[in-house]
Amino acid sequence: MKFYDAHNHLQDDRFCGRQAELLAECEKAGIARMVVNGACESDWPQVLALARQDKIVLPSFGYHPWYLNERTPDWLQNLKSFLDEVPSAVGEIGLDRWKQDLPYEHQEEVFLAQLWLAAERNLPASIHCLQAWGRLHELLKDHPRPARGLVLHSFGGPAEMIPAFTKLGAYFSFPGYFLHERKLRQRGAFKHVPPDRLLLETDAPDQLLPEDRNRFSLNGADGKPLNHPANLPAVYQGLAEFLGEKAESLTARVEENFMQVFGGIG
Ligand SMILES: [Zn+2]
Repeated sequence: MKFYDAHNHLQDDRFCGRQAELLAECEKAGIARMVVNGACESDWPQVLALARQDKIVLPSFGYHPWYLNERTPDWLQNLKSFLDEVPSAVGEIGLDRWKQDLPYEHQEEVFLAQLWLAAERNLPASIHCLQAWGRLHELLKDHPRPARGLVLHSFGGPAEMIPAFTKLGAYFSFPGYFLHERKLRQRGAFKHVPPDRLLLETDAPDQLLPEDRNRFSLNGADGKPLNHPANLPAVYQGLAEFLGEKAESLTARVEENFMQVFGGIG
């Protein structure tokens, strides 16, 4: 079976330069492709280097709302030059009203500039959204969007909004973190995701799976546990069990969905 990771951060410094080893383990685990998301200008070069190193890596470049204050005056031009460098996606971009002390000011303008770029070049955009679902919907509805689709990564929005986002071309990506017992509401929303709009992700090194599902123990330099990107098949397995679907059929339809939105890149 072939597995597709719709969202991770393989370039993350917490992996301490062990990326080649992680990639080898991912290939052994049957992972066919992974979308590696840059989050700010300082990590885009690492994402590009990984894409050049291994075809499994589908690079994505974007400014995540958490790092907006690091942006240089040339950030947008800089982003365009990374997108010109290799076939790639746009992300991680988004809106966040949840994180404490994160100013909301400028989030929308930076998000919209990147959404515009994705629409203009018809590149899939990977979107992070926390506590801003209504506003995100408004912005997406009123602005150009990439025809090939948008990915709502780690979708934790209200189930009632799934039809409205679907209409705008959204795909909904499920992280292993939602397999934790207490994430019942977030997990439950995925019963309402249209079959042809489902994706899965690890979001590695974040969003650890529950201990009994975690297949790889991996720690950062500070000893804190990290999510290994080769945990992806365990995310598929957990969601298949929850949805009451055979793992084979879930895997086949997620492959089709992944190709719809990310196919032909690279
Ligand atoms: Zn992410």
